[in-house]
Amino acid sequence: MNEEVHEEEGVGTLCNGAVPVGESNSPAQLSENVTSLTSDGKNSKLIMCQFCTSKILEPQMGKFIEKECGLPRITASKAAPSQECDILKEFFQVDNIYHFLNLGFSNNVGHVKYLACADCEAGPIGYQDLQSGLSYVAIERVRLV
Ligand SMILES: [Zn+2]
Repeated sequence: MNEEVHEEEGVGTLCNGAVPVGESNSPAQLSENVTSLTSDGKNSKLIMCQFCTSKILEPQMGKFIEKECGLPRITASKAAPSQECDILKEFFQVDNIYHFLNLGFSNNVGHVKYLACADCEAGPIGYQDLQSGLSYVAIERVRLV
């Protein structure tokens, strides 16, 4: 039996592109916070940048999903990308990047592009999976108003 080297998608690899580490469908675990931000499983409010007044996504355009994913820690400008990672678990999935009102995209990082505010460049606020074309906005990195 050949011993193949299997690359673990562990914490160590998380900053090397966004790495999904699992998905779950357990609405029972939804925090009250999330319940108040969604209706019919979609964002019930306008999604805005945390740092400025840039509008990112209209209500009802993102589908709430739970998935564990590591992203570099958010910075208020892209001048100093963070070496540190956060594990994020709650996202709005957007099927088509043209649904976004304003959004900046990074260069390719592995198999993803990071999403950032188009105005102040704060990010990453999420990522686009280049294979599926789907984008994921991390709820805790944006403002819903
Ligand atoms: Zn901004």
